[in-house]
Amino acid sequence: MNPFLNLGIRHDIVNAISELGFENPTPIQEQSIPVLLTGSNDFVGLAQTGTGKTAAFGLPLLELLDFEENHPQALVLCPTRELCLQIANDIKNYSKKMNNVHVVAVYGGASISDQLRQIRRGVQIVVATPGRMLDIINRGAIDFTGVKYVVLDEADEMLNMGFQEDIDNILSTTPDTKKTWLFSATMPAEVRRIAKKYMDEPFELTMGTKNTGNANIEHEYYVVRARDKYAAFKRIVDFNPDIFGIVFCRTKIETQDIAEALIKDGYNADSLHGDLSQQQRDKVMKRYRERSLQLLIATDVAARGIDVNDVTHVINYSLPDEIENYTHRSGRTARAGKTGVSIAIVNAKELGKIRQIERVIGKKFVKAEIPTGFDVCEKQLFAIVHKIHDVEVNEQQIEQYVPRIMEEFKELSKEELVKRFASIEFNRFLDYYKNAPDLNAPVEEGRSERGERGERGERGGKSEYTRLFINLGSVDEFNRGELLGYICNNAKISGRIVGKIDVKGVFSFFEVPNTEAQIVVDNFKGAEFKGREVRVEISGEGTSSNRSGDRREGGYRGGDRKESGYRGGDRREGGGYRGGDRKEGGYRGGGDRRDGGNNSGGFRDFSGKRREERSGSNDRKRRF
Ligand code: AMP
Repeated sequence: MNPFLNLGIRHDIVNAISELGFENPTPIQEQSIPVLLTGSNDFVGLAQTGTGKTAAFGLPLLELLDFEENHPQALVLCPTRELCLQIANDIKNYSKKMNNVHVVAVYGGASISDQLRQIRRGVQIVVATPGRMLDIINRGAIDFTGVKYVVLDEADEMLNMGFQEDIDNILSTTPDTKKTWLFSATMPAEVRRIAKKYMDEPFELTMGTKNTGNANIEHEYYVVRARDKYAAFKRIVDFNPDIFGIVFCRTKIETQDIAEALIKDGYNADSLHGDLSQQQRDKVMKRYRERSLQLLIATDVAARGIDVNDVTHVINYSLPDEIENYTHRSGRTARAGKTGVSIAIVNAKELGKIRQIERVIGKKFVKAEIPTGFDVCEKQLFAIVHKIHDVEVNEQQIEQYVPRIMEEFKELSKEELVKRFASIEFNRFLDYYKNAPDLNAPVEEGRSERGERGERGERGGKSEYTRLFINLGSVDEFNRGELLGYICNNAKISGRIVGKIDVKGVFSFFEVPNTEAQIVVDNFKGAEFKGREVRVEISGEGTSSNRSGDRREGGYRGGDRKESGYRGGDRREGGGYRGGDRKEGGYRGGGDRRDGGNNSGGFRDFSGKRREERSGSNDRKRRF
């Protein structure tokens, strides 16, 4: 027997949710549905977003209400327009095999007359954001005297957004006999207080430990110098070719800066913040949902209620002001039983904040290392290999060209052919990362945890040495000793002055005293290895420190990245996106955002009032 039937849900609804792919109840559904179906309890459910909360209260509502009657019997309050629409749609979907179920979504930023018309026609379930709801109540356009159930969804978020007073006013129009069901991801004192205020001995259900993040989320942190943050962030992104992420910043200016830099660098990114009009927000969210955007750069407030499944990574580009917000941020990944990673990019001074967050979420972070340029290249190479392996061939279309293609390739062995295909994109990454410095910041006493120097030993302060790139490596059958000999011969220097040598695949790095660096570069001019030009160039920290500066001016190898095209390819595979749209997508995004800059509407769309973009204005919040 279907487990939802066992829980007491009727056939019509079970059939509808089966079509949505609900085979087994999620833990919160399993535990809350039997309690809520009695209809006689107030209820507090402490659960993360993405755990199946909507059905946990939505299915019991459909069982308990009398749909012969056409007046409001249930009111669901939630913090954002996105969530409001989502809940209303979900309930409509659960009830699509039932008769006479009327659900209305009431939210700001859309025509109020449409909403009023729907209400007049008769509804039983009202799903609303507090600002618009209050507006409609104040117009005398709705009668809540027949309300039997009130659901406060994402209660902590509603309080964070300053809706306390609105909620009080709305609830005062509902009868005392109603039952109140409250759901919240965290349980700060304010939520406790409202639970106490509105409820009578509620049944409490805690999924996981209080304030604890979802168990399916891994938390990682990277320690970088402030000036390397953007470069480090990009490297993390490049190391995860299939990333579908939300990147959190503290201010809207920061979201715009980062999104703009990413777009220039060829990524599919856009920003979501409070200065966008509702239409612009919808557009950005639509593109993100459809996966035409791979990275959504958002402020805390703007990202509330984002209910996109399959988010692989949440990246805290800046840590939130309030610790609780970390839980909300990370809860955007690992939804619906999936796994996800929440990443914090911090500088050494912020390690204390990581420890504080660990205490609040009851989980340890893993210290991760920013991948080297070589690691990224390798990862990307295999992403390309997998892509080539898995690509769907349109036999019908390509057939006509096969003879010509075979003719072109007739001289090449399978191995040569494979190498060439893989190199098309791989070369761009190699080129981009050839001078890539180590971006991991020293954590203790100026010494990186991975060790700054190799086996060739300490040679005074690092600053006395310059790191050089050479386009020869292990594929040219060099080991460290052989490369040292080769360098000494060509550069006409003594082996004793050469510092660390790092032999990679198709390139290597070596260090020489600063005073010798240019001489070595010059001495290599015109050198050849097996008929190939040998290139030696200055690499090292100097390059990295320029990066953040370059980026805003658009200098940061934007051209290379844009051409690299690997984003488009990944996305096409992942989300069935049409090829060729990638660049346009990115730039259109930039256009939208600039339009948005002229609109200073703030968060009127949510609540009818302008809200602070930073949620840090509430002093009672736990702050770092
Ligand atoms: P929610 O927490 O209600 O936003 O749900 C998160 C996601 O899980 C939504 O995409 C739901 O459609 C999905 N979901 C909820 N309950 C189930 C279930 N029992 N089986 C499969 N998917 C579910």
